[in-house]
Order: sequence, then structure tokens, then C-alpha cells
Amino acid sequence: LYNILQELRGNIRVFCRIRPILKFEAKSCIEYIGNDGSLMIFDPCKSQNTRKIFQFNKVFGPATTQGEVYKETQSLIRSVMDGYNVCIFAYGQTGAGKTYTMCGSSNGSCEELGINHMALNDLFQISSIREDIKYDIHVQMVEIYNEQVRDLLAEDGANTKLEIMNCSGNGGLSIPNAIIRGVQSTADVLNLMKLGEKNRAFSSTAMNHRSSRSHSVLTVHVHGKDISGNTIRSCLHLVDLAGSERVDKSEVTGDQLKEAQHINKSLSCLGDVITALAQKNSHIPYRNSKLTQLLQNSLGGNAKMLMFAHVSPESDSHGETISTLKFAQRASTV
Ligand code: ADP
Ligand code: MG
Repeated sequence: LYNILQELRGNIRVFCRIRPILKFEAKSCIEYIGNDGSLMIFDPCKSQNTRKIFQFNKVFGPATTQGEVYKETQSLIRSVMDGYNVCIFAYGQTGAGKTYTMCGSSNGSCEELGINHMALNDLFQISSIREDIKYDIHVQMVEIYNEQVRDLLAEDGANTKLEIMNCSGNGGLSIPNAIIRGVQSTADVLNLMKLGEKNRAFSSTAMNHRSSRSHSVLTVHVHGKDISGNTIRSCLHLVDLAGSERVDKSEVTGDQLKEAQHINKSLSCLGDVITALAQKNSHIPYRNSKLTQLLQNSLGGNAKMLMFAHVSPESDSHGETISTLKFAQRASTV
């Protein structure tokens, strides 16, 4: 039923998630969050009426738990086991909560599992209870940094540069030379992800010293075979995007400027591809960035896509928040 409903509504979903105000932050500039996926934002620096309304498939307010977010994502994740390719993106400025949503956080005693963890638990659970199909699950993890694809599971710490291949159909791997590991449990995947995170490229920005300037892509490949020998192949891409904040060109130079330009370009290419898909254009500009090239087989066609647009509610972030909401609105087919 889920797949039928999905077909009727199209395959692109955009959810907005507003993180809580953190201790040291000023006031919120979010005025109102509706149950219908709308939110209202105002500009705290201007006295006249500056309210703007945005509309998404869903808006999660600051009090929303990880479990509640996952509940809205679960059926999408489960459809991977039925042969659908699924991409989940975490978009937003640095500090808006992308990694929190995808990977969770462990502050002291209370551990908040992220989407990755809960999704993998679900996939392995389905794999163990389905007696009619035998599943094999493999994982790859790469990052895209300055328009180069690097292998996060490589021994040499992401120094291995990878080529993207043009693979048609569902079976081919788009990065055949990236390390691929068979996994039996969520714990196996989490161990690989720890290695991957260690290898991920970081550079400092004024905003956040360990701000992530690369996109990381964790791909879960599912291969299923039933008793009469029919097979399905599908994959789930979990993408933690680089921070979308616009960098003031007068403040950064050299490597940081180059990073910023690459990030801008790849995020706007992603936006172009999603917009073209949402508008059902005949030409989809996949080839304009490494990210969209890499995900080509999982964007469009029968594939399903979910973007989490993360925003910080604090007044100081108003400008970036508006720009994130605009980007997400453009991707949305609401
Ligand atoms: P990003 O990955 O987008 O740079 P993070 O996920 O690292 O942002 O989040 C920045 C900070 O805000 C972290 O300390 C994180 O724990 C906290 N945070 C983000 N989202 C939430 C949330 N929904 N609930 C509680 N804390 C959050
Ligand atoms: Mg992060």
C-alpha cells in the first residue's frame, strides 16, 4: 500500500527539521510550526512585517524525538528490501543538526540513535524474518571532497581517489573500485562507519572548528534471492552533506575558498537535479557534479528520495535558515 500511495504522490519528499535552541544562543526566529508541514519565520532585525511561510511534506519542531523522525522514514527504508533504491539526504548549514539526525549523539548517559542506526536495525530485522528471500547486505562508504571521490573504508585513510562508472540498470556498482564489505548486523556497519568517520576530511571554518566540508555517502547494497531464483538488487544511500552556509569570499582564501566553491557548486547541482526530477523534465543534469553522478541510478525512475532540510531556529542564523528553506522548497513538490 505504501508504494501505491507513494506513486500517487511522487517519489520526492522534503522534511524540515528545526533543532532546539542551544544554551548559549539568542532568541528563535521561527514563529509557528503547523501540523500540515508549514512553518512561519520572521526577520528579527527588521521592524516591519517580515513573516514568510514555507510548506514541506512535514516539519519537525525542536521537541521532535529521533524516534518520531524515524517513524516517518521507516516505510521508505523498508521499501529498499522490496527492491527500491532510496536516497536520504541531510541538508543544512553547519551546526543545524544534520549529523544529529543521521548518526545521533551520545551525550553521557543518554544515547540518541540516529536514522542510520535505526534504518540498519530495520533492514537486518526484515532480512532475518523473511523466510522466502535470502538477503545479502554489503556496505560502501565514500566522501566527496573538492569534487573528488575518496574511499572512506580504505586503509590509507581516504587517500584513494575513485572513478565513478556509468552503470546502467540496478545491478552495477557506480564506484566498483571502492571497498565493499559484507555485513551481518548493525554493529558490523557501525564499526565500518567509525572507521569512515575517522577518515573523513575536516578543515576549520570560523563557524565550527570541525565543520565538515565534504559530503559523506554511506551506501547499503541489498541483494535478495527467493527460492525460485528470482533476485532483487537495490540500495540505500545515506548522505550527510557538507554544510550549505555561504562563505564570505572576503574572509577565506586558498584551500578554504576552493572548498567553499566546490560545495556551492555540488549543492546547487543537486538542487538542479531534484528540481528537474520534480518537474519531470526530459533532461536531468546528473553529470554536472560528482555527487549527482554517483547517485544517478538512485535519483529518478522508481527510486525514492527524502531530503531533511535542517535549520537552526536562532535569530543569528536567519539568513542561512531562509536560504536552506528556499533550497528545500525548490526541491519539494508540495
Ligand atoms: P551539523 O552536522 O549540521 O553540523 P550537528 O548535528 O553536529 O550539526 O548539530 C550541532 C549541535 O546541535 C550538536 O551539539 C547536536 O548535538 C545539537 N543538535 C542538533 N540537532 C539536535 C536535536 N534535534 N536535538 C538536540 N540537539 C541537537
Ligand atoms: Mg555534521
